[in-house]
Amino acid sequence: APVVLWFRRDLRLGDHAALLEASRHSRHVLALYVLDDALLKPGGAPRTAFLYGCLEKLNEQLGGRLMLVRGDPAVEVVRAARSVGAAAVHVSTDCGPYGRRRDASVAKALAENNIDWVETGSPYAVTPGRVTKPDGDPYRVFTPFHRAWTAHGWRAPADTGPSLVDWVEPPRSLKVPRPPRVDAELPEPGERAALDAWHAFLEDGAETYDTDRDRPDLSGTTRLSPYLRWGCVHPRTLLADLGDSAGAKSLRSELCWREFHADVLWHRPETARENYDRRFDGMEYDDDREAFDRWCAGRTGYPIVDAGMRQLLAEGWMHNRVRMVVASFLVKDLHQPWWLGARHFMKHLVDGDLASNQLNWQWVAGCGTDAAPYFRIFNPTTQGEKFDPDGDYVRRYVPELRSVAGKAVHTLKDRPEDYPAPMVDHAHERRVALERYGKL
Ligand code: FAD
Repeated sequence: APVVLWFRRDLRLGDHAALLEASRHSRHVLALYVLDDALLKPGGAPRTAFLYGCLEKLNEQLGGRLMLVRGDPAVEVVRAARSVGAAAVHVSTDCGPYGRRRDASVAKALAENNIDWVETGSPYAVTPGRVTKPDGDPYRVFTPFHRAWTAHGWRAPADTGPSLVDWVEPPRSLKVPRPPRVDAELPEPGERAALDAWHAFLEDGAETYDTDRDRPDLSGTTRLSPYLRWGCVHPRTLLADLGDSAGAKSLRSELCWREFHADVLWHRPETARENYDRRFDGMEYDDDREAFDRWCAGRTGYPIVDAGMRQLLAEGWMHNRVRMVVASFLVKDLHQPWWLGARHFMKHLVDGDLASNQLNWQWVAGCGTDAAPYFRIFNPTTQGEKFDPDGDYVRRYVPELRSVAGKAVHTLKDRPEDYPAPMVDHAHERRVALERYGKL
């Protein structure tokens, strides 16, 4: 009997552990994707548009044999499996809070129909929950997690070449929906584009990653985050290609941050919404919609903050250093709750990922695991001078400042008329933030 491979966050054919496992059970595999409104409705337009692009590419790779259906997965997966007389449904484990609930109900519905549910692999090198302290407790601090994660290790990439299985002709299928209108310029979707980006980076960026990764004015990072988000490439594929240079070590550590946050969310799913550190529940925030809107629009009058917020709108992506700076500015200079910023990010990021986003926000706000100490408050001006030393990044995204040469773009002794004055005084807001943290 055929089996079903239900794709979710694993939109690729290479290094696909669940596909390999499915192929051991049957040569005949039905490729299925379920458009689930519970996930699509709250998803931001850039992420949805990128997802649809990835589905188009996957369908091409499958010779047009991707079965696409829309509806409640607990109904649709059973229906699809029954329509081809499948004996089992294979998946990569989904570790997010919604995915876990959904999968429990799908597995139950399948069991009622005598269809097996088989989970193999996950979107991570080490599946969340597997790395624990010797006493079984989860790690709360990155460095020991990183050590234990490295010691735990991961398998070699799964060898899932194109002729591994015969893709079953779907009895029916929807067309991939037209992507929502998006103003941001998005990366090329799909597995091929992911691997091309990775190989270009290996040729031309990996050696200097450790020194360049903090510089938003350079293209010093992989820009693989949207591909990792949708599983167009598996982190194991990347880890297997990394040697022992300082650049490779540094990238391995960043990939581990992704796994750490997934592990935290796996153990504490409520931290998608709530403070990881409950001592912060009493934090006093301002209710200032206008200030929040200025931050969203990139009109704060702090050039590095504005450049970041506008890069987000222009590309659906923002450099990691600048994500930290703008997040710190929202929470510590504008005294707004982290979850408002996290929600704005999720709406616009093409790589928006619940674990990485919410827990990085909490890290910046000081209430997360292994958080930046609350008294470490980024100074947006010196951050700009340090990490965008010639001002190129700011000029790229803030056209009003293009006439200002060099690093003076961060201090702006002469502010162009069409660029706003700083909306707050950083030195003052810093003291306010420290006072409020002090009260906790
Ligand atoms: P590279 O530097 O090339 O790193 C390679 C990969 O490692 C990334 O693609 C990513 O998967 C992972 N990685 C790197 N840094 C981190 C990190 N700090 N935390 C977790 N994973 C990391 N990343 C997301 O993928 N989705 C998000 O929604 C997201 N939200 C963030 C929100 C805030 C406030 C902050 C400070 C960071 C956030 N990050 C998020 C982490 C990081 O900014 C992005 O992963 C990174 O900028 C993506 O660019 P890249 O692929 O070129 O990264």
